[in-house]
Amino acid sequence: MLKVRVGKWICPEVSCPQRIFAERFPEIVQRYARMTDRLIETLQSVGVTTNGTDAARILSLLGMPTTAKTIIRRVLQLSLPEDCRSLSSATEPC
Ligand SMILES: [Zn+2]
Repeated sequence: MLKVRVGKWICPEVSCPQRIFAERFPEIVQRYARMTDRLIETLQSVGVTTNGTDAARILSLLGMPTTAKTIIRRVLQLSLPEDCRSLSSATEPC
């Protein structure tokens, strides 16, 4: 688990649509994310080389508890390699 202290600022302008501004860490974590980019990449790497259930088991043993469902969801967010996209109409898998 990673604990991050986030700075927040309140806009004094009454008509401000945002009102509250929170500090961001774009090099570490995306907006509203509950995992760091590095953890997501790790889940995806283990997920593509194994399967959801085995990846969840391995990652839990390594101190990154997660579920098979999460692994699968994260792997499905990966884009296909360029050579697979150009062969999308081909009948053979790449
Ligand atoms: Zn404002």
